Amino acid sequence: MRVEDKLFNNRYLVDTGRPHIKVRPHAKPSPQLLSMLKACPARCYELSEQGQVEATVDGCIECGTCRIICEESGDIEWSYPRGGYGVLFKFG
Ligand code: SF4
Repeated sequence: MRVEDKLFNNRYLVDTGRPHIKVRPHAKPSPQLLSMLKACPARCYELSEQGQVEATVDGCIECGTCRIICEESGDIEWSYPRGGYGVLFKFG
């Protein structure tokens, strides 16, 4: 089974207007931030036409990969979603 098929089994309760991960403003993305385009298993990071890395965290599985990779560079603000929001794993 492909990762994308497995992710499809999850459910998400989106906390509208309160994303739990924010990319800090940047003139040019750091190598760590750019690596998130490939490293995020849920493909939450994208490169905009302006060359900025943006995050859409509605499908985030809270794996913490971006938190660890961008910890030193300080490119993102990361926190868990508020109680009751975020990913709901169907199979535990
Ligand atoms: Fe992607 Fe994991 Fe970061 Fe969520 S916590 S945005 S799934 S790398």
